[in-house]
Amino acid sequence: MKLICIGRNYADHIKELENEKPTDPVVFLKPDSSILAKKQPFFIPDFSDDIHHEVEVLVRINKVGKYIDKKFAHKYYNEIGLGIDFTARDLQAQLKDKGLPWEKAKGFDGAAVIGDWVKVKDIANVDDINFSLKKNTTLVQEGNTSLMLWKIDEIIEYISKYFTLKIGDIIFTGTPAGVGKVSAGDELTGYLEDKRMFSIKIR
Ligand code: ZN
Repeated sequence: MKLICIGRNYADHIKELENEKPTDPVVFLKPDSSILAKKQPFFIPDFSDDIHHEVEVLVRINKVGKYIDKKFAHKYYNEIGLGIDFTARDLQAQLKDKGLPWEKAKGFDGAAVIGDWVKVKDIANVDDINFSLKKNTTLVQEGNTSLMLWKIDEIIEYISKYFTLKIGDIIFTGTPAGVGKVSAGDELTGYLEDKRMFSIKIR
């Protein structure tokens, strides 16, 4: 399976990192080895002094598809989740400066947190989901899927032009503002509406 990630999908986060608003979605992949094992802490890797949390809504693909029209995209997933796209921001900045791919900054072991899943049928509107992240007891990130530049079904249309979507593939739909550094001893807790979706200790 593959993890397909969308970058710069919320206007407020683009502003925060002083990025340009893209004309197409920014797409990158994380390898399956980047998935943090359930109930395991996240260990800060020795190659970075600036690991950032990016809380993101996840979509799990349940049907094989290619060239999916956005009108039919809803038939290709029945679960929505929440996760973290951990990013070595210092390493990413170096790679960006040199025009190199981001994989080392985004795809390292443990860089993909995948929390619990909620059935789409239990969600009133996938384009109006509140989600948030707490670092320890402080609310650090808050978003709503209505604020995405590319909505879930548009993302599926776009990425399926390039990648055949397979059962079990997971889409990371981008992060809202509020990304920030994690330190050893922190605990990150993610919420989809009022439901706690994951809790991760940083070591
Ligand atoms: Zn991200």
